[in-house]
Amino acid sequence: MHDFHYSNNELFCEDVLVAEIAGEVKTPFYLYSYEALRRHFRAFDDSFKGVGHLTCFSMKSNSNVAVLRLFANEGGGADIVSGGELYRALRAGIDPGKIVYSGVGKTVEELEYAVSSDILMFNSESEQELIALNDVAKRLNRKARVSIRVNPDVDPQTHPYISTGLKENKFGIDIKKSFEQYRVAAGLGNLTVTGVSCHIGSQLTRVSPFVDSLRKIKDLIAGLKDAGIRIRYLDMGGGLGITYNEEKPPLPVEYAEAIKKELGNTDLTLILEPGRVIVGNACILVAKVLYTKSTGDKNFIIVDAAMNDLMRPSLYGSYHGIRAVKAKGGQRIKADIVGPICESGDFLAKERDIEPLDRGDLLAVMSAGAYGFTMSSTYNSRPRVAEVMVKGNIYSVIRKRETYEDLVRGEEIPDFI
Ligand SMILES: *Cc1c(COP(=O)(O)O)cnc(C)c1O
Repeated sequence: MHDFHYSNNELFCEDVLVAEIAGEVKTPFYLYSYEALRRHFRAFDDSFKGVGHLTCFSMKSNSNVAVLRLFANEGGGADIVSGGELYRALRAGIDPGKIVYSGVGKTVEELEYAVSSDILMFNSESEQELIALNDVAKRLNRKARVSIRVNPDVDPQTHPYISTGLKENKFGIDIKKSFEQYRVAAGLGNLTVTGVSCHIGSQLTRVSPFVDSLRKIKDLIAGLKDAGIRIRYLDMGGGLGITYNEEKPPLPVEYAEAIKKELGNTDLTLILEPGRVIVGNACILVAKVLYTKSTGDKNFIIVDAAMNDLMRPSLYGSYHGIRAVKAKGGQRIKADIVGPICESGDFLAKERDIEPLDRGDLLAVMSAGAYGFTMSSTYNSRPRVAEVMVKGNIYSVIRKRETYEDLVRGEEIPDFI
């Protein structure tokens, strides 16, 4: 995370003091580095030079319109999983011809919105969805381009909650049965079969599961060709991992080389749906210490950010680095970093070896750009925090901190109470 660096023991994001931003926007807030976002996008996208490809950023990892605009400017598309994400993508200026739509439960209204928007491709996850999509396209007098999301049944060797490519997961259609589904799709008049897609899981730290699923998909595409069904797009999904602690995931270029090698010479266009690998390490969550206390042999550092702001530690037991915004040195202690929420599961870090922090000190929760703000909620009626982006020596709020009025917007007390 070299766009977040120390100078004279003070943490900077690019050329701006993190403490200065905290002074103005107050805490907590998510802080993005423009330079890191752009560099990560380019590093990924450039790795696939030499094969026809489209990088469709996975919006569920981060959907702020400013972040999306940055990727749109780089030629990126989007992988969406809801009508709301489609709305955000279009608002950000992403070309609908570069949007792919995944997810097991697309509603009829969402299908209508996406068909009318003429998106590139629907990654369909069931026979009923294919039929519903065909009906919608027929009613709108359009043709919808589809791929079938196949479940290749490979073990991504990641956390079970973020593994999606095993037979027991709800996602996709068993690759062995997908041939039959392709026949169904090809027989539906308002669908154009154009792709095969898969997404086997997230935070993968090895390339072999990707290569294994690609091998199975290549066989499927060859079989389809023999049956007269021509595939143009091969969507490999996302899932490449990042370093939160000591993981050593492959670099994007290693991932790309492995895929290109297995793919060989081809006229297929690759679609990639990276999320975490682009945004994860381009952002930190800045919080302030409210109180510290010790109970017996345990130390607690109570901060103003909580599980509603960053859910990953509570949800998956995920590791996020914790750094002092102003490094003071001194005797390190072991402590739990916890938030104000009334749940024992509300923690950002456990049993962490950390330099001593006092009331009012700022700390940074590292690697917070993916599944950070997007998973946040207002639980305990805590307004959602601000998001800020730095570029060089300037910064800008890219999402205002919510207010108490925002919390109750839309709520009504009916007459009968
Ligand atoms: C979540 C998801 C992604 C992105 O996963 P990352 O691990 O963040 O790269 C891509 N495609 C689909 C279909 C997804 O559900």
